[in-house]
Amino acid sequence: MQSPDASFDVLLESALPELRPIVEKVARQERITEAEGLLLFEKGSLGFVGALADGIRQRLHGNKVYFNRNFHIEPTNVCIYTCNFCSYSRQYKHRDDGWELGLEQMLDIVRSFDNKPVTEVHIVGGVHPKMNLEFFCELLQKIHAHRPELHLKGFTAVELDYMFRKAHLTREEGLRKLRDAGLQSLPGGGAEIFHPEVREQICADKVDGAGWLDIHGTAHKLGMHTNATMLYGHIETYAHRVDHMARLRDLQDETGGFNCFIPLKFRNGDNDMSHVPESTTVEDLRTYAIARIFLDNFRNVKAYWPMLGRQTAQLSLDFGVNDLDGTIDDTTKIYSMAGAEEQSPSLSTEQLCDLIFAAGKVPVERDTVYNELHVFEPDEVVA
Ligand code: SF4
Repeated sequence: MQSPDASFDVLLESALPELRPIVEKVARQERITEAEGLLLFEKGSLGFVGALADGIRQRLHGNKVYFNRNFHIEPTNVCIYTCNFCSYSRQYKHRDDGWELGLEQMLDIVRSFDNKPVTEVHIVGGVHPKMNLEFFCELLQKIHAHRPELHLKGFTAVELDYMFRKAHLTREEGLRKLRDAGLQSLPGGGAEIFHPEVREQICADKVDGAGWLDIHGTAHKLGMHTNATMLYGHIETYAHRVDHMARLRDLQDETGGFNCFIPLKFRNGDNDMSHVPESTTVEDLRTYAIARIFLDNFRNVKAYWPMLGRQTAQLSLDFGVNDLDGTIDDTTKIYSMAGAEEQSPSLSTEQLCDLIFAAGKVPVERDTVYNELHVFEPDEVVA
């Protein structure tokens, strides 16, 4: 394997003249500007941005690729909001077509993993008008009492914004309550595209970009780690993507609380934006690579394989990605309902390891906050 520095030298020789300053900055480990980020989207070929991003990934992680053993709980898909890209939710008046899990049903899901070596439960769903802060505090307390070592990650900023407003609490008060009930970190959903020009067209009625960032910033200040996403490949421009990532980069400078960045591909199955074509695989990989280059203060870039498909996710490991999320165990419907390749998303640990080894990388099981739990060997019998 070529060292990152050697590969940057090669890239410098072959780069378009206007892109050479970007290679020089990356080689010197300097931050690129928003204008340079835009230039990468406009002029950077897949080979070019991929090689640059791969050099950064190698510098940060060597050949290690992370995953965790997790499962999801989706309390409901009933939602008061009407995001145009959403294939998953059902309005309250049509709730009979959706699902609404009670506490015991959700605890049964947790109990079904009693003998499995999972380390995290990921809880997200629609914004149900009758599932409130007290309900979720009780859920967290009960899960924690049943399995204290399980990391509890849950609730998008969209769910939290509604929960806290309904409880007449500030964001800090609400987050403190959830944290006291056992919540340890937040996932990154609900970010979509922050810029109002886009947000007003795809999800006008939910928390705005500033609110999303404020909830995550508040969580960081309370010592909670969170993730960040970007829903790309619909009506947004390259400038909107750069603006989105710049807002995240600024908050990360302030708090350092983001664990990872997860670009999410827009899927057009069965929603109000079905007429919008999906992005190509080339565009997907370019987006991952440019995110890796632009977000110099994010240590990890994750490909969420149930949305991207396991083969493109595997390919993304050469385009800046160093994390493949988790085993998931067929416990999420968010993307399968939008027509993603993975209709029953579940990978055994062995399958995940095989996928990573086949890409020439080393699988490493991590916990939610990226502590390494186990580095796998190629001939290891995987439990
Ligand atoms: S994306 Fe989330 S907030 Fe929007 S309608 Fe779907 S479930 Fe509700």
